[in-house]
Order: sequence, then C-alpha cells, then structure tokens
Amino acid sequence: MKKNALSVTREDDFAGWYQQVISEADLAEESGVRGCMVMRPWGYGIWERVQYLMDQRIKASGHENCYFPLFIPLSYFAKEAEHVDGFAKEMAVVTHHRLMKDGDGGLIVDPDAKLEEPLVVRPTSETVIGTAFARWVQSWRDLPVMINQWANVVRWEMRTRMFLRTSEFLWQEGHTVHATKEEAMVETLDILELYRSFSENVLAMPVVAGEKPENERFPGADATYSIEAMMQDGKALQAGTSHFLGQTFSKAQNIRFQDKEGEFQFAYTTSWGTSTRLIGGVIMTHGDDDGLRVPPLIAPHQVVIIPLLRDKPEDEEVLQYCKALTREIAQGRALDENIRVKLDITGAKPQTKRWSWVKKGAPLILEIGPRDVAEGKVAMLRRDALYKENGKLDNHFLTKEEFVPTIPDLLKDIQDRLHGEAKTRLDANITRGITDFAGLEKFYKENKKYPGWLEVQWCRATGDALEQIDQRLKKLKLTIRNVPQNAAPVDGPCIFTGEPAVERILIGKSY
Ligand code: AMP
Repeated sequence: MKKNALSVTREDDFAGWYQQVISEADLAEESGVRGCMVMRPWGYGIWERVQYLMDQRIKASGHENCYFPLFIPLSYFAKEAEHVDGFAKEMAVVTHHRLMKDGDGGLIVDPDAKLEEPLVVRPTSETVIGTAFARWVQSWRDLPVMINQWANVVRWEMRTRMFLRTSEFLWQEGHTVHATKEEAMVETLDILELYRSFSENVLAMPVVAGEKPENERFPGADATYSIEAMMQDGKALQAGTSHFLGQTFSKAQNIRFQDKEGEFQFAYTTSWGTSTRLIGGVIMTHGDDDGLRVPPLIAPHQVVIIPLLRDKPEDEEVLQYCKALTREIAQGRALDENIRVKLDITGAKPQTKRWSWVKKGAPLILEIGPRDVAEGKVAMLRRDALYKENGKLDNHFLTKEEFVPTIPDLLKDIQDRLHGEAKTRLDANITRGITDFAGLEKFYKENKKYPGWLEVQWCRATGDALEQIDQRLKKLKLTIRNVPQNAAPVDGPCIFTGEPAVERILIGKSY
C-alpha cells in the first residue's frame, strides 16, 4: 500500500490534517501569544508572492499605496456607532506608555504613565483614513481618491486558527472616495472582480462572488460583497470582501466636497480587503495527503534541485553540475517572470530533502546523482502528480536538453491542473433544486460528512425576518454565504417562507 508523507489524512481528520500541513511544510508555528503566529520563510515567501501579484493588480487598476499609523485614538471610533459596535468586542487597546520595576525587581506597568486618551491597535483603518480623506477632499477636482495600504491589523478573536483567523493578521486594505453613488458602486464591484480573478488565476482557487446578506455586512457598510471558496471538506471560506460604504463614513467623518455648482456634498466611500487567510485557502484547496501543493505562480521556488551527495569524491562533480543547471534554469522565463529555482545544499539526507520539498509543495523537484551527471540527465518529480497508478513515485528521467525548455509549459500545466481539479470539485459540490426547509434539513442529515453547498431561492429577507432565518440555519451550523453573481433566474418559492423568491443564495458551513 502507498504510504503518504503525512500521518493524518484529509479523510480521517481534516482539521488535524490542516495543522499538520502547516507544521510539516514549515509554513508557520505558534508564538508565545495565543492567536498570533510566526510565519516561517516558506509560508512568508508564499505571502510575499501573493502580495506582489495582488499589489500589481491593485496599482494597475488605478490605486496608490500609502501608510497610516498602527494606533488609532479611541475617539475616532466614537464617530460611527455601528462600526464601533461591530469591532468593540475584539479591540486591543494601549493605555500606558512605560514600565517600572516593582519591589521584587520584576516589571510592571507604571500607573503614572497612563495615556490621556487610549489608543486602539487598528482592527481596520476606515476611521483614521477617513480623517485624512476629510482633509484631502475639498472639491470635486480632488476626486476620486483611490488608495491601498499593506499592513498588519489586530482583532482579538476568541476562536483562532492559523492563517484562517488570527488575532494579528497581514492584509491589504483599499479605501476610496467618489463623487457619486454610481461611481462608488462600480469601484466596489470592480474590486470584487479583481479578487475573483486573482483567486482563480493566481491562487488557482475557484470562488463564487456575490453580495452578503444584510446580517453579514461589514459594520457600517451599505452593502458587502465577498468571494467564497470551497475547501476540500466542503466548507466555505470567505476569502475577500469589498464594501460599498455609501455616505455613512463620509457623514461621520465629514468627507465633503464642493461640486461643480459650488454646493457641498458628502462623498461616497468604499473599502475592501484580503488577508493572510488566503494562504489557509490555498492549503485547504490544493493540499493532499503528502502536504501542500503550491500553485507555481505563488511558489517561492518553482523548481528545487536536490544534489544526491554521499560524502564521496564524485560529490564535487554533482554539485558543479547542479550549480550550472540552476544558473541555466534561472535564465528561463515562465508565466511571464524569471523562473524561481533553488539549489538545496543543506546538510540533510537527500531522501529527507525530497520529502521535505514534497510536503512544502514545490511544483517541480529534481534529484541529481553521479549517474545523472555522467549521462547529462535529471530525475524530475511533479508535485501535482506524484504517483503512478501503481502507487510508485512517478519519477521522470530526462536529459537536461529535454527537460529545461519544457519548464514553462510544465509550470503552466501545473497551475492549470490545480485550478481544474478545484473547479471540478466546486461544481460537483453545489446542490440545486431543494425548495423547502424540510428538504434542506433532510439533505444535511443525509450528507453529514461532505454536504458541500446548497444553492436555493429566497425572498431576500431583512431585519427580524432575516434574524429568524439566521437562527434556523445556525441550528444546522449553516450560514448564508452570498447571493451569487450570474446565477440562473428565480422560478419558485422562497425556501424559508414559501413566498415568491427574488434571488438565489448559497448556503453552507463555513470557516
Ligand atoms: P473585513 O475588513 O472584515 O471585511 O475583512 C477583510 C478580509 O480579511 C476578510 O474577507 C477575510 O478574508 C480577512 N479576515 C478577517 N478577519 C480575519 C482574521 N481574524 N484573520 C485572518 N483574516 C481575516
């Protein structure tokens, strides 16, 4: 029987498997602070790739980067009631600025060093950026303002999970100001599309984009849109959000401009974000029982070369051959960039190195020993298709001349195959056609392990009616994920009320 690199399988214990991938692939580890993680080079390297490629797209769509402070005066939050209500429960607050020695020589907070006004560690930056917008925006000529910031934020989450929900996380947050409602809505939806296409084309992670129901809106937003990805256990991951903030924040923060007629108008604002959560999504979309499989576009190293060194005189020749090969590959281009190739010269045994790179998910793994050198060959493993049908490792023995020119095609093929696999799974696990709540309950009872998502029709309830629906779904551990864009037209009753439906929604368990 085939033995996998991990001891926990997805089938037996998906949550345990997820944790094991993170530690065995050297992605991240716990720190001394609950909910805060140390990102190791391979995990951070993936984040840097995500950041780089996302940043390009954000800039290409007309936004500029800037940076605002980590600390926000408490009073800034008081201006928008709904916003502060939404975040109050999870704020870290700085109240003092000095330590002192106590009687026993230990360190304590100096009670005399109390700040006049407490400072909130930013959970998101609408309040502080809005204050700047109020200064920057005076006339219609100043609009639109379209900025983005890469930063860390802190939300004191009670139930944390590495990458998916941490107390401190890294993200980008976009913030824009527009003269009209229409323009702000176009921006909100343009960013939703940017996120959707980034997720599909860069992360190879298929998603469904759509509007969130009213009860899942960002605190203070008029409308929130999300991209939702399906993890291999069938649960949904909200992978990014784009908010249409209407005039709520501009009124709270006095972001006003003089229009062409000289009249003062409140502006319309948007905000949007994606975070290190995306890496959790990549793990649960592409990982298998041997560890992670990183899509080539975001792999810190796309080709890893392992010299088979055995403390023998021919080692030197192997090393020289590998170095020359590394240089040659690095000159090539794939997926519109220089190929990222790594020669692994650490002291570990070749066998250990192989499995370490398999677990990390490097797309192409080469092993080169004295015989390959003599014959001018490489032994190549594709991480996306590691085994032959008989369960043996699918090693490809190729001459250097055969292999090197095909790297761009191989990487492209791996990127596409990972996306294709995930897309097939997503499409196969959305069930349609259930029209009443009893049917929904029955479905989830009968499909406990892999229910996937349901696409059903509803009446777009709001307020108390939505609250009741939310409670009914919560009993089954379900939530409304979003109202998918491009869904088929409605043609039946609301699954909750029996009244005529007005739109389709996705329902599922979520992270
Ligand atoms: P929000 O500002 O609440 O719309 O958050 C923007 C995005 O950040 C969300 O869509 C998530 O993908 C991500 N996110 C929110 N909270 C966390 C968290 N605690 N840890 C990691 N990512 C998060």
